[in-house]
Amino acid sequence: MKYGRTYNFSAGPAMMPEEVLEEIAAEVLNYRGSGMSVMEMSHRSQVFQQIADEAEADLRTLMGVPDNYKVLFIQGGGTVQFSMVPLNLMKNGVACYVETGAWSKKAINEAKKMGEVKIVASSADKNFSYVPDCSDLDIPDNADYVYICENETINGTTFFNLPNTKGKILVSDQSSMFLSRPCDVSKYGLIWAGVQKNVGPAGMAVVIIRDDLIRDDLDKLPIYLNYKTHADNDSMYNTPNCWAIYCCGKVFKYLIKNGGLEAMAKRNEEKAAVLYDFLDQSKFFTGAVRKEDRSLMNVPFVSPSKEQDADVVAASKAAGFDNLKGHKSVGGLRASIYNAMPKEGVEALVDFLKKYEAEHA
Ligand SMILES: *Cc1c(COP(=O)(O)O)cnc(C)c1O
Repeated sequence: MKYGRTYNFSAGPAMMPEEVLEEIAAEVLNYRGSGMSVMEMSHRSQVFQQIADEAEADLRTLMGVPDNYKVLFIQGGGTVQFSMVPLNLMKNGVACYVETGAWSKKAINEAKKMGEVKIVASSADKNFSYVPDCSDLDIPDNADYVYICENETINGTTFFNLPNTKGKILVSDQSSMFLSRPCDVSKYGLIWAGVQKNVGPAGMAVVIIRDDLIRDDLDKLPIYLNYKTHADNDSMYNTPNCWAIYCCGKVFKYLIKNGGLEAMAKRNEEKAAVLYDFLDQSKFFTGAVRKEDRSLMNVPFVSPSKEQDADVVAASKAAGFDNLKGHKSVGGLRASIYNAMPKEGVEALVDFLKKYEAEHA
């Protein structure tokens, strides 16, 4: 790889497209003749306004966001959304959550502080290694919404079929799969994503929310935690995360130029297949997730023992691969292979794992 960069399998912050980083580097001292860096620019300036407007417009194009949805850029990363969702959407004080792993558990714990949480399906019985059947959930009439973490970054599962919410609003945390495949926004009430997994730098979430879910009756809510504040002010109630908006905007343009989300999905399927095909035939490494629910973005796997896992991580680091250690809560190994990870990176990793297996099995 150029510039001495490594194949970085981090779950987030994670790799960004090299071409995008090059463009950012070229503009870092003087953005297009403005005489300043985007980091030094007033968020009220015309130059920055154009950056923000284009970022929103390009994201709308990419995802085909319908006109009756707002696109918001909100600080606080993903975690603030665990709180904002129940604070804004619990009208009756009842919400349904599907529990599929570490990140849905965090969302559940936060929602419990605001109201009654009904866990309508869970894969806790098998260590979150699959996505439970959500075709006939027991959803109470007064439920305000049904919440899923559509791709569990730590556990490596993904929803290939959305739950039957029986007419209730679907809320989805798409952080670790955002823009990895086409998405029919009209099926959701609210989609949110921390951008540092599959798009840009950390510290910001994109929220796509249907207009009618933005409420006028939440005066008691801290102003920054009210979606209405962000919607009414085009995500510029206060100084936004200008740098993240700028970098994400570049990635949106890059994705449009490279065929959009259909093309990304095809690339991601081919890329993930390289690793999964290897794991399926290996007698040494084992994938941690049920086949039909395997994430195309985060691939957790194990070797025969914890000690061996640690040795694989050390050897992979020495061979020029970074961040293959599984999350501290589950151990093992994990390769995060987001949009920006080239197929060659996954092929190189598989070559390494093959060689390791031959030497240690
Ligand atoms: C990383 C992640 C989060 C939390 O994001 P932060 O920006 O670190 O708060 C939430 N949900 C999912 C699925 C994630 O992968």
